[in-house]
Amino acid sequence: MAEDDFVLVEGLNIDFAVPGGTLHAVRDASFGIAKGETLCIVGESGSGKSMTALGLMGLLPSNAQRSARRLRVGGHDLMAMSRQKLSDLRGSEMAMIFQEPMTSLNPCYTVGNQMAETLVRHRGVPWRSALTTARDWLERVGIPPSAGRLGQYPHQLSGGLRQRVMIAMMLMCEPKLIIADEPTTALDVTIQAQVLHLLARLQREMGITMIFITHDLGVVSRIADRIAVMYAGQIVETGTTREVLTDAQHPYTRGLLDCVPVPGKTQRGAALGTIPGTVPSLIGRLDGCGFAGRCRHAAPACLTGLTALAERDNGRQVRCLFAPATLWGRA
Ligand code: ATP
Ligand code: MG
Repeated sequence: MAEDDFVLVEGLNIDFAVPGGTLHAVRDASFGIAKGETLCIVGESGSGKSMTALGLMGLLPSNAQRSARRLRVGGHDLMAMSRQKLSDLRGSEMAMIFQEPMTSLNPCYTVGNQMAETLVRHRGVPWRSALTTARDWLERVGIPPSAGRLGQYPHQLSGGLRQRVMIAMMLMCEPKLIIADEPTTALDVTIQAQVLHLLARLQREMGITMIFITHDLGVVSRIADRIAVMYAGQIVETGTTREVLTDAQHPYTRGLLDCVPVPGKTQRGAALGTIPGTVPSLIGRLDGCGFAGRCRHAAPACLTGLTALAERDNGRQVRCLFAPATLWGRA
């Protein structure tokens, strides 16, 4: 994390009041992203990836409680911002793309109408030129004008086309930060690759900073500059893609990498691993390391010791009492 990072998240906590107490969906998350970089957030289901993104955007469910020491995007202090200002910023500088485009597309309006409306509202562009820009943008995402898609309703498009429309609609407003939450998971594998490639190419061309959330470590290795690994609401490791994929310093990251084939790393025919045990409850206090119950290197100190996210060289952070990895289990 550096002071001049485009995105700076420090000490982000997101809690929900639930019948059994307080559910800590995100605990003390901190990370930074330089301008134009892609940070991939990975981790298993329920680890707090979406809540981290929604917390940054100010789009949390109404029963969520958010606190943070700092939340900054492009010099804007999001903590000190009014609801209105934040909503304006979401239209102009930050945009989010979800797994299911129908959550963001309105089924009652044609694609052209929605795209033009977005430009009129956020950029104050006259309707006619907004429609022209919408047509140009559809072409940029691989939808030719001759296909007549502007006049169609979202339900008339395939999943892949809908996601392309979403990408066009989002990039049309020239955001500086995009947050993509599993944007290709619902698509067929071949379409997934096309949409991912398109998004990554346009993001690079436009110099946009991106947070990309995914389960898929294969995707991570292709698009991420940096990786943040989440486990049970905590970021347990961050670093450059190369560092994390080739030299993981947290036992959970190592376990995760052993569970999936990683292009260029996993040997052909090698057996894939599993991580035994279950994720700890997110409700109530967490004593010691959240992964200790599943970690084969765990020592008594791991059950009680404070596991802060220790900053190492070059913005690398690892939440393990025994990092670097050469010290695992040496208690
Ligand atoms: P997935 O990969 O399945 O999308 P995720 O990492 O994005 O998972 P989150 O959606 O961030 O996980 O959820 C983190 C935790 O917050 C989960 O345990 C979830 O049950 C809890 N949570 C989410 N929304 C609510 C809510 N409205 N009320 C209570 N708990 C919630
Ligand atoms: Mg999610």
